[in-house]
Amino acid sequence: MSLPTAALETASTARSTVSNPSRTTLSGVTLDAAVDDLAALLDGAVIRPADPDWDAARAAWQLGVDQRPVAVVLARSEADIARTLRLAARMGIRVAPQGTGHGAAAVGDLSDAILLRTAALSYVVVDAVQRTATVGAGATWGDVLAAAAPHGLSGLSGSSGTVGVVGYCLGGGLGWLGRLHGLGAHSVLSARVALPGGAVVVASASEHADLWWALRGGGGAGVVTELTVRLYDVPRLTAGSLWWPRERADEVLKAWSRLLPSLPREITSTARVLRFPDIDALPPAIRGGEFILVQAAVAGSPWLADRLLAPLRALGPAMDDVAPVSPDALGQLAMDPPDPSAGVAEGVILSSLDDAAIESWLAALDSDDCSGVVAAEFRHLGGALAPGSVDDAALTGIDGAVAAVAVAPATPETSLATAAAMVDVALASLGPWIGDQQYANFVERPTSERALVGVAVDRLDTVRMTYDPDGTVVRRHGPTD
Ligand SMILES: Cc1cc2nc3c(=O)[nH]c(=O)nc-3n(C[C@H](O)[C@H](O)[C@H](O)COP(=O)(O)OP(=O)(O)OC[C@H]3O[C@@H](n4cnc5c(N)ncnc54)[C@H](O)[C@@H]3O)c2cc1C
Repeated sequence: MSLPTAALETASTARSTVSNPSRTTLSGVTLDAAVDDLAALLDGAVIRPADPDWDAARAAWQLGVDQRPVAVVLARSEADIARTLRLAARMGIRVAPQGTGHGAAAVGDLSDAILLRTAALSYVVVDAVQRTATVGAGATWGDVLAAAAPHGLSGLSGSSGTVGVVGYCLGGGLGWLGRLHGLGAHSVLSARVALPGGAVVVASASEHADLWWALRGGGGAGVVTELTVRLYDVPRLTAGSLWWPRERADEVLKAWSRLLPSLPREITSTARVLRFPDIDALPPAIRGGEFILVQAAVAGSPWLADRLLAPLRALGPAMDDVAPVSPDALGQLAMDPPDPSAGVAEGVILSSLDDAAIESWLAALDSDDCSGVVAAEFRHLGGALAPGSVDDAALTGIDGAVAAVAVAPATPETSLATAAAMVDVALASLGPWIGDQQYANFVERPTSERALVGVAVDRLDTVRMTYDPDGTVVRRHGPTD
């Protein structure tokens, strides 16, 4: 593949000069002209601010984020990704890879960057014998679960099938089989990675092992074009929810928290306070209602699930839909909204969860300051999610007892800023129990990487000096402090 002539003409320039692409002159070449050259080479397309589909092209799944890049590249091939990186390196601009845009809130300013959308690269190839899935950069967990389930296999997906495999694994990957099999990042066997300048390398335990290490929960370096993840045998899976009215939240949360230390790795569960909107699309039983739910995935028989959940069933749930399920049902278990929306979701890791923490959490959720928080959950950690389960990953585990997440949508009555303030109040109520380590996938504001991966940050810096010394590829949570 030959380079655009215009892009070849120049190299170094300050990134700050790119704010107005039509006027930026690099040895006589405008960025607009270079992007025109790129457009002519792509299998996909370039969308620019004047194009009619500009707003659709730049929209993230998180609709509250107003992404304003120099241009959007809709990649259709690995070569498109390499071409974009080659142009960016030569024009002195950055490239922000994005599959779904679930993580867009933590990316920051893109005014000197091309937004590289990979959604069209959504292929999934399952090798049922080797128990692997090889996926394009734009594949979602829903794509993987659907392809793996007919083989009795599952990947380490999180709560939502709409989340991208790549972004999820780069940030860690906390999912329904996590306490048994660990973080999604730890299932990454190899990756094809396009580097600034356009070269593509393979990163695995035996090739570019430093880059492979960085991709496993450390955000990585370069642009992943393809990922191979391990799949897991799930011969029996029992999952579902126990529902009580919201008034029972204190009792249910305390019973759940007391049960946690005794639970084996086969069960991963969450305890969630949910407020459902009063809309026709919902069944009458939950429409406009408020509930406390315990949701669980048990890698085992209904008999095992019955035994583990018995202390909670003794509290007499109003609804109970725990039953044997196919592995691809995990993508819907949490009932996360299937469509893009605007709102704020933030999470923290708690060192411990005791009665006082639960009381403080519920008092905050009951206050007017949190009236727009529609989901507030604790997720059980430990088991294979604990640090030390592996040592060849930038994120070796999550150091805490539970994760706490609060979600507030933006609505006509609640601005994004108000939603953020409500989420802050909810999480602040857990202040005394919040640990030192935070978890990248649940932190939506750009955050110091040191708080996310601890001492691994120094080794990550070294890896990035090797593979992306100029910081061409934009990452969530940006440069370290
Ligand atoms: C509804 C919902 C449910 C969620 N549930 C969970 C959960 O259960 N467990 C959990 O751990 N997290 C969960 N998350 C958080 C989610 O894992 C992160 O937001 C993650 O970053 C999303 O990845 P993505 O690829 O979908 O998003 P994107 O926004 O497309 O990507 C996020 C980031 O990943 C990097 N990236 C993406 N593609 C590439 C690439 N090809 N090459 C290099 N870097 C790339 C970039 O830095 C990008 O900014 C959830 C988020 C939402 C909105």
